[in-house]
Amino acid sequence: MLRHLVPAVLVLASLGLRAQESEPSAPSCKECGSRGERECSEHKRDLADLESAVRACSVAQACRRCAGALGVDCKSCRNPLAEEGLRRRAELAARFAIERRQEVGSHAVEPDEILFLATEHCDLSFSFAPMTVDRRKLDSHRLMHLYGARIEDLHRRFVEVFELGGADFPAPADDVSPRLGVHMFEDARDQRELAPRLTGIGSQGTGVKMMGSFLAYSVWHDPKTLRDDVDVHRAIRHNVTHLLLSSFVPTQWIGNRGHGWIDEGVAHFFEIEVDGRCANFCYEEVGVAPGANWKGGRWKVGIRQLAETGQLRRFTELYEKNSDQLDLEAHAHAYAWVDFLIQEHGGPRFADLVRRVKAGGVTRDALQAIYGFGPLQFDERFTAWVKATYPLR
Ligand SMILES: [Zn+2]
Ligand SMILES: [Zn+2]
Ligand SMILES: [Zn+2]
Ligand SMILES: [Zn+2]
Repeated sequence: MLRHLVPAVLVLASLGLRAQESEPSAPSCKECGSRGERECSEHKRDLADLESAVRACSVAQACRRCAGALGVDCKSCRNPLAEEGLRRRAELAARFAIERRQEVGSHAVEPDEILFLATEHCDLSFSFAPMTVDRRKLDSHRLMHLYGARIEDLHRRFVEVFELGGADFPAPADDVSPRLGVHMFEDARDQRELAPRLTGIGSQGTGVKMMGSFLAYSVWHDPKTLRDDVDVHRAIRHNVTHLLLSSFVPTQWIGNRGHGWIDEGVAHFFEIEVDGRCANFCYEEVGVAPGANWKGGRWKVGIRQLAETGQLRRFTELYEKNSDQLDLEAHAHAYAWVDFLIQEHGGPRFADLVRRVKAGGVTRDALQAIYGFGPLQFDERFTAWVKATYPLR
């Protein structure tokens, strides 16, 4: 079913939906600056910028004046090229909205409540209720654009930390896509109905995901674990990082292949950038009561305190476990180990470690080859680094 999602999005990608992309050679017209079209007045203030920053938005597509083209024909001049561009953009927007409504919206409790956005790397479905972000109340539409921008920001950051290039993600084909499918539902009933369709996994927890060749994360707005925008932001960052890590070539989810500390550690590495805390323990991981955490989410302080009292867990005790075998404290260690390797030895070397274990390499040999030390020499170096860099309080 997910295969059908890919082609329409690719068409959008190649043709583009942005108003400024059409450059008609037009007769001179003062009304439109000879562009043959004018901006649609329905997308006022910040909305014009939000819409032109994305590939497609179902709210813009529903605009009665421009149908998602973001521009309207200039009545003072004739410019067939601009008219054709407007028509084509509206048609692409319509195709996008129809396809997303069929795939996702039509299965929702209230189909009209689900909004859709396509950004450079992500297809987002969204029905979260308005929320306060930095003391400003955002309606669902603006909130969706914010999350689209945050997912793009995470993608940029992931590529930057590991110094990845285009070839590090799979080229789209029938059996693989690097696009991120993210589905955020206000209503738990939508999650129950849609998460199995979208991720292939039955839904019981707050969020579920599909990793590997096709990437999808579906989450509902559980008030117990996602109390405010910062909670939601952390959850998105944590879980979308899992998708990116599994997608990155060789495409493979490693969390169930004895590399849980890498899978979870990397997800926490990007999660903690939101506000210095971690709070996400995915559903397939150990049964964790909603809201439970370790050291109130202040993991650097917690790890430093363990280092001071000689209570850090050994690398050899945990490094061959799967993601779902890690308890809360083990998650904090996984985060700190990944942080240590990236901060001390650089993102590109860590990316090499990931490539090797994804290709079936043994962690012990990969560490030795890349860092010059193995699991038995890990703790001493790590402890010294924690004492030198992590805060005591
Ligand atoms: Zn004109
Ligand atoms: Zn929009
Ligand atoms: Zn419009
Ligand atoms: Zn996780």
